[in-house]
Amino acid sequence: MSKTCVFCEKFNKRPEGDHLVFEPLNPVVEGHLLVIHREHTDDFTENPIISGQLTERASLVAKIKGGDYNLITSKGKNATQTVPHLHIHLIPRKENDGLLLPWSGQAYKDQLVREIEEMEDSGLRNENGEWVESDNISKSKVISMIRESKGGKDGKKNNR
Ligand SMILES: [Zn+2]
Repeated sequence: MSKTCVFCEKFNKRPEGDHLVFEPLNPVVEGHLLVIHREHTDDFTENPIISGQLTERASLVAKIKGGDYNLITSKGKNATQTVPHLHIHLIPRKENDGLLLPWSGQAYKDQLVREIEEMEDSGLRNENGEWVESDNISKSKVISMIRESKGGKDGKKNNR
């Protein structure tokens, strides 16, 4: 156990039980819960047995409560883990609740990149398969043209 771990501290006043289910300080929707295990592990990779037990408990909680859920756990700062004690977020979901996952609306390839690749495939390459760069057709110009047509940040709305 870590002396300074806020989640371990929650177990100090509770001599029994290996799990705790509680509302986080800043719930993202009504019913948002955190599920933690008494044994301190930093994240879901440190001890697969503990991770499994914790997931089982979180699964049961969601099953009993019913409805749609996201079950989310993170490892590391870049994955948005803020408390370094393994925890699972249970987030109840409703139709049109407006809640976005961190990656909602994104894809591996940005739509703009895909459009440029399609344009490359449809005639902006020369006979050697190279991108045709000139004053008239440069990649950056095509990018700005697409942005303008979309009414993006640095582009103008379509004139009608
Ligand atoms: Zn801890």
